[in-house]
Amino acid sequence: MQRPNTKSYFLKTFGCQMNVYDSERMTEALARDGYAATDDIASADLVILNTCHIREKAAEKVYSDLGRIRDMKDARKRDGKETVIAVAGCVAQAEGREITTRQPAVDLVIGPQSYHRLPELIERTANTREHIVETEFPGDEKFERMKAPRRVSSPSAFLTVQEGCDKFCTFCVVPYTRGAEFSRSLAKLEAEARELIAAGAKELVLLGQNVNAYHGEGPGGRTIGLAELIRRLADIEGIERIRYTTSHPRDMDADLIAAHTEVPQLMPFLHLPVQSGSDRMLTAMNRKHRAEEYLDLIGRLRSARPDLALSSDFIVGFPGETDQDAEDTLSLIRAVGFAQAFSFKYSPRPGTPASTHEDQVPEEVKSERLQRLQALLDDQQADFNAQALGTIVPVLFERRGRQPGEFVGRTPYLQLVHVAAEGDLVGSTANVAVTDVRRVSLSGVIAAA
Ligand code: SAM
Ligand code: SF4
Repeated sequence: MQRPNTKSYFLKTFGCQMNVYDSERMTEALARDGYAATDDIASADLVILNTCHIREKAAEKVYSDLGRIRDMKDARKRDGKETVIAVAGCVAQAEGREITTRQPAVDLVIGPQSYHRLPELIERTANTREHIVETEFPGDEKFERMKAPRRVSSPSAFLTVQEGCDKFCTFCVVPYTRGAEFSRSLAKLEAEARELIAAGAKELVLLGQNVNAYHGEGPGGRTIGLAELIRRLADIEGIERIRYTTSHPRDMDADLIAAHTEVPQLMPFLHLPVQSGSDRMLTAMNRKHRAEEYLDLIGRLRSARPDLALSSDFIVGFPGETDQDAEDTLSLIRAVGFAQAFSFKYSPRPGTPASTHEDQVPEEVKSERLQRLQALLDDQQADFNAQALGTIVPVLFERRGRQPGEFVGRTPYLQLVHVAAEGDLVGSTANVAVTDVRRVSLSGVIAAA
């Protein structure tokens, strides 16, 4: 088979951890096909943007990047070199051919369900110079068709166990860009987990747009849930830590709550987005849970695992949100006490029901509400981190820091920890005495054994 002449590639990832996982898989497939990664976008034969469509800003950033990449492509052409530009991810899925119309320098548009065809499609567009748009939702498992061996770039490795979403929150594009819920089988996940551990992973982060809705094929063809998947993976030799994200409050069942008591490798941290503390807003968002139910769930989780650290996503300025609704969200935050959280201004997304509501909230009101909400969440994060001062915590070291001799790792509660030490700590877990605390990170020294 003739290979394309595009041999170095630059890949930029936008958005969520699932895109990071997909980018890793694309990287492996490209390496198997003889491509080498480069950090220098201007010299790359192939540029891939793995895009995010969740908010308008994220999607528009792609087009501004594409303008700059087109200029680089033109400059290379003047030197007699060809460049293939590929747009992958959720913007590709949502906008399809519109991307090549808006930016004709783009050669390939490829949706998340077609990544197993990436090398073949790059070769085709490189040979024919035709625009290719591939955004089908084939029913088979793309990951199994991407046969390249798993590699790990960090001791904390992502493992996608579930994709897509059937919840249809009225603000969200995911059900349209990622399609219906689909869970991978236990056998395939165990095999991939073993590969990741053999390649050096110590922690597995199980990923899914709705990860706790996981319902994969288990032993004897029986369907298993996320709790059983976690128990099975915890039995694999060498797995020190397990996390999962992102969960929906509706799918947090008793078995999964019990796993937080029973599985020692399951870390005491949970990202459980509530979005709003107002029942009126939760109904309008089609979230399928009320504020009181969320608080009750948090109570049950904390009974199962008293030191559980919690995180959430919040949307402010959803259409029709009043000052009282915004106040209700602040009350919920005060009632829970979050260790960290993400918060966003509502961004109307084309094709979603909420985008056509008439009672959109003015931008300055959104900004003011976001500021108040973030100030409260920042205080809570600072308080949570302050509790670590003077304690000794087990830290899994993930990478070297910026300073010579510095290492960066995470506590069980996902706090970043900076430590200066001799030798190489990456991949090891060590007890750290926390000596200094900032809002978003801790620092300390290796505790005497
Ligand atoms: N499945 C997860 C859940 O139900 O919480 C979240 C998935 S989504 C990729 C991540 C976060 O983006 C959401 O929790 C929400 O807070 C935010 N988000 C989604 N659509 C948004 C929109 N139109 N405007 C602002 N934020 C949005
Ligand atoms: Fe989007 Fe999450 Fe709602 Fe699904 S559950 S529609 S991914 S916000």
